[in-house]
Amino acid sequence: MVENLSHFWSWWKELQQFGVNADGSLTRLAFTEPDVLSRRWLATVWEQMGARVTIDGVGNIIAQKGSPPFILVSSHTDSVPQGGHYDGILGVLAGTLLLEGWSSAACGLLVIDWSCEESSRFGVSTVGSRIACQETIPWDKQDLQGVSLQQAATASFGGAMKRYWTLPIDQVCAALELHMEQGSVLSDQGLPCAVVSAVAAPQRCLLTIEGEANHSGSTAMADRHDAIAAAAVIVQSIEQLSHQFEAQGLRATITRWDASSGAANVIAYRTSLLLDIRAQSPAALTTFFDGLTAVTQTLQKHRGVSVTLHTYSQEQPAALSASLSQILQEKMNQAGMKAPSIPSWPSHDSLVLARHVPTAMMFVRNVSTVSHQAREYCAPGDIALGLRLFKNSIDAICQDFGQRF
Ligand SMILES: [Zn+2]
Repeated sequence: MVENLSHFWSWWKELQQFGVNADGSLTRLAFTEPDVLSRRWLATVWEQMGARVTIDGVGNIIAQKGSPPFILVSSHTDSVPQGGHYDGILGVLAGTLLLEGWSSAACGLLVIDWSCEESSRFGVSTVGSRIACQETIPWDKQDLQGVSLQQAATASFGGAMKRYWTLPIDQVCAALELHMEQGSVLSDQGLPCAVVSAVAAPQRCLLTIEGEANHSGSTAMADRHDAIAAAAVIVQSIEQLSHQFEAQGLRATITRWDASSGAANVIAYRTSLLLDIRAQSPAALTTFFDGLTAVTQTLQKHRGVSVTLHTYSQEQPAALSASLSQILQEKMNQAGMKAPSIPSWPSHDSLVLARHVPTAMMFVRNVSTVSHQAREYCAPGDIALGLRLFKNSIDAICQDFGQRF
């Protein structure tokens, strides 16, 4: 595998050309021309390796070698605007490298480049993997130009007319993803790789606070039902709750605050807050919402405002496979390395897969400590090590899981 790393880097360079900007960043938004062209290019590379390749109606590219039970190796090649060249791409090219040399008799291999993993264009993430797992997709979500997700998928890849590929759940013994860490934990600890302990599920809610419009001068303080003042309490409480629950695997952020009142001299009667929550377990989510409900009930009682919460996007937290993660850990230990187990706060296709098949993830150190921008960077030595550990783990999983399947 290591001797083929020159192939890995030549694919990496070729792939870069689809959507690279003058400043070196990458803009390969789902269903745009660079995304469509890069997918066609990748499908050809995989076909030339003798794999059976399918591009489905949403742009998922699926390569198959061998027969069930399958090891599934997947990630994504779409990017955010002005993104970097490692997020997702590392995982897809790790799969490509495995596909090139695949010869296991115990398991077949599925390598997938999932479509529309990033939420940048439609506000919806992991679209391709969710369709393959037959989960519900908000097809009517639109981009800034008013093009719906459904229209874009249909124009680029045929949409429902061409059919969507379905994950053969009962034929997949293990799903694995190699990904660049998007934070700084490994870099801070001076370690090259980690096993991912959990992937935080994103959830977005709109909190609407309604009070009463009144004159900002003549209304006594005791008589006010000020929506903005009430919202300020909620903003602070959410930050406090997030501090409190971070160690239990939850972070919550108010990402937008819209307020409406009549004028500069009118007490605001309505305001809304956009709440982004990342939770690693259902238990952390429940406890957080209990805390938030206590805050809103107190506000309603003491300030005479009403608070409603509308959850408009919700992913269920899912546990990664302990037995698969243990194999990843063993392979790191056998290579004489510490094998830290760290959570992923950003979401991944693996979170979707974990709801359906045994799934594990491995992180490679991100030296830059930033992601979703041009500076994101993994050192070639860390990538080489990550690829080798990933391959060793998959060989072991094939022997172990494949034979028991
Ligand atoms: Zn990613």
